[in-house]
Amino acid sequence: MQPVARRSWSGRLWTRSRSYGVLLALALAAGPASQAHARQAKSALTERSCSGDDFIDEVLRSMPQGYEIPCDRVVVVKDFGAFLRGMPDLRAKPELVAKAHRSIAFTINATWPIYFNFDQYKLLAETHTRTRQDAILWMMVVVSGHELTHAMGDADESDALLTELSLLSRFMHEGKIPADFNIDFKELKQQFVRAIKTEDRSKTSPRDQ
Ligand SMILES: [Zn+2]
Repeated sequence: MQPVARRSWSGRLWTRSRSYGVLLALALAAGPASQAHARQAKSALTERSCSGDDFIDEVLRSMPQGYEIPCDRVVVVKDFGAFLRGMPDLRAKPELVAKAHRSIAFTINATWPIYFNFDQYKLLAETHTRTRQDAILWMMVVVSGHELTHAMGDADESDALLTELSLLSRFMHEGKIPADFNIDFKELKQQFVRAIKTEDRSKTSPRDQ
């Protein structure tokens, strides 16, 4: 699996320079397979904060049925430097470090946990606290849905983008994300198509090409 360069958003808060989420492929032993169940996730979320961050807790509480994320499967990266010091395998790959650093959320090797990068969501959290603009929260749910797909073991970018597109269109339909939120929905769909084509190519043997 290859790390996939992510789109940028044209939304006011979803700046061009900020990656949205990213799957990092590291050549290290994968963690234990996910044993997470929705019930377990729900019970964990009724307890006190376990992600250690109020904004991320609110995002996790907002995950729709079927997309629950156990908060003990989430790592909030408050200090990216300290995080890297504990991840020598990642640190050895500067291009992956750069991708992770500019992402709001990322997963490594399509397994848990989901990492949330404070440096990148800080402004969103502050704006949400100040304005209670809930579309910000729902966009974070969309990001989390994408990363959840990877965390459950699916490395295909097209599948994660499909989750993302489906959550995004649902929240827009429900009025949770207003039409004027200025999301480049068309670009997202094009990314999905590009991902499908790239994956098709990589699954075709050289002899068939
Ligand atoms: Zn992805």
